[in-house]
Amino acid sequence: MQRAREWLREARCVAALTGAGISAESGVPTFRGAGGLWRQFRPEDLATPEAFARDPRLVWEWYDWRRGLIAATEPNAGHLALAELERRCGRFTLVTQNVDGLHDRAGSREVLKVHGDIWEVRCTGCGRAGRDDRVPLPDLPPRCDCGALLRPGVVWFGEMLPQEVWRRAECAAREAEVFLVIGTAAVVYPAAGLVDRAKAAGAKVIEINLDATPYSEEVDCSLRGRAGELLPQLIA
Ligand code: NAD
Ligand code: ZN
Repeated sequence: MQRAREWLREARCVAALTGAGISAESGVPTFRGAGGLWRQFRPEDLATPEAFARDPRLVWEWYDWRRGLIAATEPNAGHLALAELERRCGRFTLVTQNVDGLHDRAGSREVLKVHGDIWEVRCTGCGRAGRDDRVPLPDLPPRCDCGALLRPGVVWFGEMLPQEVWRRAECAAREAEVFLVIGTAAVVYPAAGLVDRAKAAGAKVIEINLDATPYSEEVDCSLRGRAGELLPQLIA
């Protein structure tokens, strides 16, 4: 911890990658942890273009439930610490796999959401995109003014990442002197590839996770514990 703190203090350029684990302490379940199931479904059965084509109402009911759950939570000390780090650092880029918007609510300004945002909706017909914060949504599935179905503004299994967001995330990983990997099993590609990229470019990689991950042995520093406790200590 002491060494990691010094790396962070001395770095002019820092990037962080967060996953579902950082929001777990706020009460947003991770997909694979406890509470990740809705009715009898696994996320892999619902977060796909095929599931949406088959039963858009069912998929929207799941998203409406998750939006309600997220709306009732607050950012935790881990989210707040990253917002503070952004204010202090010369150059700081936050890349998140989370769709919950908790980094925004914690005050982070530059958030690269590589898996999209659960508060955004996009028309499957005319392509128009916008934000809808209503919980619950009045009609499921919601429709665009053009009559076509709206879909959640998230990246589903099997879909491409948003190109420009991804390009900027890769850039940040390449340029970072310190790269933080927080609350992600780092097995979901291509996001996990950012860790390799940062390492290859010479960054010190610091991992924060409750459990060991495939990366724990390879990183420069692996801190085992809750993000909400370790991140405030790391930036103190
Ligand atoms: P995951 O569910 O596979 O893994 C979560 C990781 O967080 C695990 O490695 C776990 O050990 C760790 N963890 C759990 N609690 C923690 C804590 N308090 N402190 C530190 N670490 C903790 O999630 P993933 O690897 O991020 O991949 C699943 C994908 O599903 C994500 O890419 C994301 O798009 C999506 N997802 C998003 C949310 C959200 O927006 N909050 C929630 C669930 C899933
Ligand atoms: Zn439309």
